[in-house]
Amino acid sequence: MTTFPELRTAVVTGTGSERGIGRHVARRLAREGWALAVLDLNAEAVLSFADELSAESERPVLGVAADVADPASVEAAFSRIDAVLPPVLAQINLAGIASPHSFFELTKEIWSEVIDVNATGSLLMMQAAARRMIDGGWGGRIVNTSSITAYDGGGTFSKAGYAAAKAAVLGLTRAAARELGPHGITCNAIVPGPIDTDIMGGPLSDERRASISGDIPAGRVGHPSEVAALVSFLVGEEAGFINGGSYFIDGGKHMV
Ligand code: NAD
Repeated sequence: MTTFPELRTAVVTGTGSERGIGRHVARRLAREGWALAVLDLNAEAVLSFADELSAESERPVLGVAADVADPASVEAAFSRIDAVLPPVLAQINLAGIASPHSFFELTKEIWSEVIDVNATGSLLMMQAAARRMIDGGWGGRIVNTSSITAYDGGGTFSKAGYAAAKAAVLGLTRAAARELGPHGITCNAIVPGPIDTDIMGGPLSDERRASISGDIPAGRVGHPSEVAALVSFLVGEEAGFINGGSYFIDGGKHMV
């Protein structure tokens, strides 16, 4: 079993949104002893979250404003991380955008944007993190975020472009798992169903919540803290033999 160094960093993207999954993941990993780099496109939100988390945590926390879809921005983000934080051993890619456009509404611009943020953004963050994990010699953990939409084609809050982008994340995760496995780096994908965040256009109305819950065997939408628990397991020392997998966290929606 891998032994991680006492001081190690997890990079978590998509931590700008107040009710989003990213903040729950970052808070949980901070409690579990990770130093944190929290990253988001929304500079103001992520920097104030980093201040909050820093006050709660015994480990260093760095807030980084960056665009995951822009190679120069990703490199600049990692230069800052390298300068002040312990070695990066976990990369968690949660930054994402939805796309409500149906098949015939998809223009090349909309398609490119949704693929860029969800898929290319994951690739760029993975490459930057994995280079450091290899150089550090500790191995590492990468967790990408797909969606139930990659399997069922969507409909709840996102459609064709998002489904394609989240399916790309699955293939990318498996390919990276093969190539990075020999370096002691695991790559896995989480596959959430409807989770109670603002990605569906703000807080759910009671009516919408009831309608979405009706399609879920568990009879409810998920809470972001439940996703954080799965991520925490996948980045842990004990998860070193879990590689190239994709894990539904959807109350059983994938069976319906
Ligand atoms: P959210 O909208 O609350 O958070 C997404 C975050 O990503 C935001 O803070 C946003 O500013 C950030 N972001 C967007 N574009 C970015 C960019 N180019 N660079 C850096 N940051 C950027 O969403 P969430 O519900 O917390 O979703 C987190 C992840 O989980 C996303 O990848 C989403 O697609 C996926 N997911 C969510 C659900 C759900 O029901 N909430 C279901 C399946 C998958």
